[in-house]
Amino acid sequence: MKAEIIAVGTELLLGQIVNTNAQFLAQGCADLGVTVHFQTVVGDNEARLIEALGLASGRADLVICTGGLGPTQDDLTKDALSAYLNRQLILHQPSMDKIETFFRDRGIHMVESNRRQALMPEGSDPLPNDAGMAVGTALTQDGTHYVLLPGPPKEMKPMFERYAAAWISTKLDGVHPLHSRMLKFAGIGESSLEHELLDLIKEQSDPTIAPYAKEGEVAVRITTRAASKEQADAKLDPLEAEIRSRLGAYIYASRDISLEQAIVRIMQERGLKLSAAESCTGGLLSDMITAVPGSSAVYQGGIVCYTNEWKHRLLGVPMDVLEGTDAPGAVSEKAARLLAEGLLQRSDSDFAVSITGVAGPGTSEGKPVGLVYVGIARKGCATEVAQLALSGTRDIIKLRAARSALYRLWK
Ligand code: ATP
Ligand code: MG
Repeated sequence: MKAEIIAVGTELLLGQIVNTNAQFLAQGCADLGVTVHFQTVVGDNEARLIEALGLASGRADLVICTGGLGPTQDDLTKDALSAYLNRQLILHQPSMDKIETFFRDRGIHMVESNRRQALMPEGSDPLPNDAGMAVGTALTQDGTHYVLLPGPPKEMKPMFERYAAAWISTKLDGVHPLHSRMLKFAGIGESSLEHELLDLIKEQSDPTIAPYAKEGEVAVRITTRAASKEQADAKLDPLEAEIRSRLGAYIYASRDISLEQAIVRIMQERGLKLSAAESCTGGLLSDMITAVPGSSAVYQGGIVCYTNEWKHRLLGVPMDVLEGTDAPGAVSEKAARLLAEGLLQRSDSDFAVSITGVAGPGTSEGKPVGLVYVGIARKGCATEVAQLALSGTRDIIKLRAARSALYRLWK
C-alpha cells in the first residue's frame, strides 16, 4: 500500500511551526507496513486543498490528512474532502453530544461554529478524539482510503495509535508490518562503518540495512517485513550476527539508546560509581550523563576545573605540572592523568574521568585547537589517557571531546 501524508496549515507554509505530524505519521505508516511515497504541505485554502487531494488520490492508495478539523473558518479539511468526493457533511451525534456536554459542564456558552467539529463526510467511519473535540474520519471511495486527523499532536497521536492505525490495518491484506532493529555504534566513523558493511549493503534486499549518522552518532537500522516478531527475529538475528562478527567491538546497543544511557545502565547493573573533572568541556559530560533518568544511582558529581588554580587547589595537580617554561601544561597527558587520579582519590568513585584540551578558536599553551586529553582513572587499575586531535568549531570540539570520553568509559 502506498500512502501520501497531507499536512494542512498555513502556519506550516510560513515556517511558524515544524511539521512534526508528518514525521510521526511516516513512522506510524512504516510500522504498519505502509510505504509513504509523498508528503505534501498545503495552506488553509479549500481550492488548493482539493487540488492536493486530487493529486494524492491519483498516486496513493491511502491519503492521510492532518490539521484543519477545528471549529474555525480556516479549518477546511472536512469541507474540502466532502466537496472533492461529492459527499454531504453530516452530524456525528455522539461527537455532538460530547461537545455539548463539555460546554454545559463548564457553564460556557457554545458558539455555533463548534458544531463543525462533529461533522463527518456521509458514510465515513468516525475516529474518536480522546484528547479534544474534533472527530476524525476514515472512509474509502473508488479504491482510495482517506483518513482525516486533527492538527494538535496531542490529539492526533492518540487518534492515530488507538483508532486510525487499526482502521488502516483492516485495509491491508497480506502486507506484513516492518520490524526494525537499531544497532548503535561508538568509536567508529560513518565512512569506516559503511566500508566494512559495503557488500552487505549492496546485496541487501530482505532484511534491508541502512546506516545512519546524526550529531556524531552512527547507527545501522536493519529492517524486514514479517507477520510476527518471531518470524522477523529469524531473519534479523543472522544479519545482526554477521554485522557483530565484523564490528562487534564498536556496538554498544541493539536498540535506539544513547551511549550515555548505555553507560548508566551498565554501571548501574554492576553497582559502579562515576565522577568527572572537566576543563575544556565545561560540564558538558556531566550534563549528558545527568540527562539520563536514573543517573543518580551511578553519577556522583563533577568538577568544572577550568583554571589552573582550580586544577591545583581542588584536585591536587602540582602547579609545576600546569605552569612554567618546561611544564607539560594543563593540556597534557600528565595533567589529564593527575586530574583523573586526583578526583578518584577525593571521591569514592570506581571511575573518574578527566577532560582537558583546547576547544579553540585560539591556541592555548602554544598547543593546537582540537588537542584534547581524556583520562580514565579506575580503582585498582592503571590510569589510561587518550590523546585526541579533534576538528570543528568550539561547540563541536566540546561535544566530540565529551562523546569521546563516554566512548572510553564504555570500553
Ligand atoms: P484546532 O481544533 O486546534 O484548530 P485543527 O485540527 O484545526 O485543530 P490546525 O488548526 O490545523 O488543527 O492546527 C492546530 C495546531 O496544531 C497548530 O497551531 C499547531 O500547533 C498544531 N499542528 C497542526 N499541524 C501540525 C503539524 N503538521 N505538525 C505539528 N503540529 C501541528
Ligand atoms: Mg484549527
